[in-house]
Amino acid sequence: MTIAYDNAPPVREHYLVFGSPMIEQAEIDEVVDSLRSGWIGTGPKVARFEDMFRTYTRSDHAVALHSCTAALHLTMLAAGIGPGDEVIVPSMTFCATANAVIHAGARPVFVDVDRETMNMTPASIEQAVTERTKAVIPVHMAGRPCEMERIVPLARAHGLVVIEDAAHAIEAGCQGRKIGSISDATCFSFYVTKNLVTGEGGMVTTRHRDWAEKVQMLALHGLSRGAWRRYSDEGFRHYQVLAPGYKANMMDLQAAMGLHQLPRLERYLQRRRQIWERYNAAFADLPVHLPAPVRAGDVHARHLYTLLLDLDALRCSRDQFMQALHQENIGTGIHFIGLHLHPYYRDTYGLDASDFPHATWISERTLSLPLSARLADRDVDDVIEAVHKVFRYYRR
Ligand SMILES: *Cc1c(COP(=O)(O)O)cnc(C)c1O
Repeated sequence: MTIAYDNAPPVREHYLVFGSPMIEQAEIDEVVDSLRSGWIGTGPKVARFEDMFRTYTRSDHAVALHSCTAALHLTMLAAGIGPGDEVIVPSMTFCATANAVIHAGARPVFVDVDRETMNMTPASIEQAVTERTKAVIPVHMAGRPCEMERIVPLARAHGLVVIEDAAHAIEAGCQGRKIGSISDATCFSFYVTKNLVTGEGGMVTTRHRDWAEKVQMLALHGLSRGAWRRYSDEGFRHYQVLAPGYKANMMDLQAAMGLHQLPRLERYLQRRRQIWERYNAAFADLPVHLPAPVRAGDVHARHLYTLLLDLDALRCSRDQFMQALHQENIGTGIHFIGLHLHPYYRDTYGLDASDFPHATWISERTLSLPLSARLADRDVDDVIEAVHKVFRYYRR
């Protein structure tokens, strides 16, 4: 038996790109409309997108930004977090979660995650709290909500602020409550691979009006509110600089895409659920850990479909397995190599892999398969066939 690795023909002729976004005609037309209108920067479409997003997440305030990283950073500043403070983050996440803490001048304190859910747990948070802890950032890994109904009261008991990283979890819900409406603030990403795309883009929703105002001010040079209107038909308006701010505002060009993506979230989620169920059925007999079942009462946003390879049953590493799928013209992803294993965090904070046994275990085995509303049934068939083919080849 051979695979494409050995120069046998691949399962597919054309490469299936991992995480390719679904873009429809309405977005294209709306972007063109912005271009023709001459208003491409922050303007009325951003304001409309914020309104729609606030309604969708049932949150009190929403501020659109140019990334989730900026949302995390500026929200931390709005919450008054800075030098001398500690912020608890999971080790199993994208680097932006921890980097935003560092940008705010605070120290990220990494905790291990649960092996099944890949999320931080109330117990792991409890163990990491010190008198310097100011905040905790739950990350809803792959779209699976953390146990917010336990984390929020735990944080309150210790006087901690809760800022969620919901980059994977726009559609998610936790015990009947919509993600975005539960804690102090929630940050979302509209990066090209995420469930809603605006190219680059992000949003923070919050229950605190003063945080929303501060984030908006900091995102536009620290100018006084409404500064983006200063060239509108209301005539020139003076602004004042209230802080040495940043440049992280969303453009109308980006919001133009979001306006049309948002109403389709549930349809796309439904399609990803179908693909998910097909994968689960197709891989049930393979030596892998399938994604854990969704807890009753929760909504999983199905951002990533992740297999955990049973390395004892294979004659290859995860990276070799991934390379073999690549040769079959199937693109895959790794979410993630735990942050404690990356040189910067490991060396700066003196982290040891053995202190994060679950995140380390996941880092060695995890492999994300294509999961996008854009996939045709044929594409899904190809992924399934390629995974089976590579398993047959490498199985002990
Ligand atoms: C993508 C991602 C981010 C960063 O989002 P950007 O919009 O690219 O800044 C943050 N956290 C997690 C968990 C992510 O996957």
